[in-house]
Amino acid sequence: MIRIEGMHKWYGEFHVLKDINLSVRQGERIVLCGPSGSGKSTTIRCINRLEEHQQGKIIVDDVELTSDLKHVEAIRREVGMVFQHFNLFPHLTVLENCTLAPLWVRKIPKREAEEIAMEYLNRVKIPEQANKYPGQLSGGQQQRVAIARALCMKPKIMLFDEPTSALDPEMVKEVLDTMIGLAEDGMTMLCVTHEMGFARTVADRVIFMDKGEIVEEAEPEIFFSNPKSERTKLFLGQIL
Ligand code: ADP
Ligand code: MG
Repeated sequence: MIRIEGMHKWYGEFHVLKDINLSVRQGERIVLCGPSGSGKSTTIRCINRLEEHQQGKIIVDDVELTSDLKHVEAIRREVGMVFQHFNLFPHLTVLENCTLAPLWVRKIPKREAEEIAMEYLNRVKIPEQANKYPGQLSGGQQQRVAIARALCMKPKIMLFDEPTSALDPEMVKEVLDTMIGLAEDGMTMLCVTHEMGFARTVADRVIFMDKGEIVEEAEPEIFFSNPKSERTKLFLGQIL
């Protein structure tokens, strides 16, 4: 579903991503971890062109990501993204947040878009919040709305960028449980997270990045019990 080959990116003079090679098969759950500033967000933001890479290839569901707007739009339709800070529209209700893109991008009739939205709000267990505004919800509820909103576009792949990092501890579980449910339904997922419990139970592979490079990649069991690189050991020592 995702193939990244020899990707490099610079922010001005700063070489932020160095020869990234990464692939995600259909139905696979990948956890991407690494120290702050290692390039995790930049990597996943490149996948739907929120950032532009300068060298190498990104191929999503057989479409190569180029500056051709048609390709960018085709890929964005397949890829749902959930951010650390929810990024909901504060002036729209929960239901309106969920129907906006289906109405305007997918051109789905309003009644149908609302039915789909309610289906996913049910799935993330907050249908009763549909007519409230994001500011009236807890952080955990807002993040579940953000997940439902992404799902309303029926993406083939979900990208998560530290979806629980901005949450109070008691709300982390409800969001992780939602993500576990998605994984059980077979969603292809690439998740930046430091929730190593989640990585252990859900991930098919864990990828460790440091200083703009992929340092190590392994099944969770091996990654946690027998990391190869010193940099991985140091990182695990700090977070576990
Ligand atoms: P991570 O998500 O792993 O914490 P990021 O991908 O956000 O790392 O950032 C990688 C590096 O790129 C960091 O050193 C960060 O300061 C830098 N960086 C991120 N965004 C920009 C930007 N828009 N312009 C310049 N430097 C940036
Ligand atoms: Mg980040």
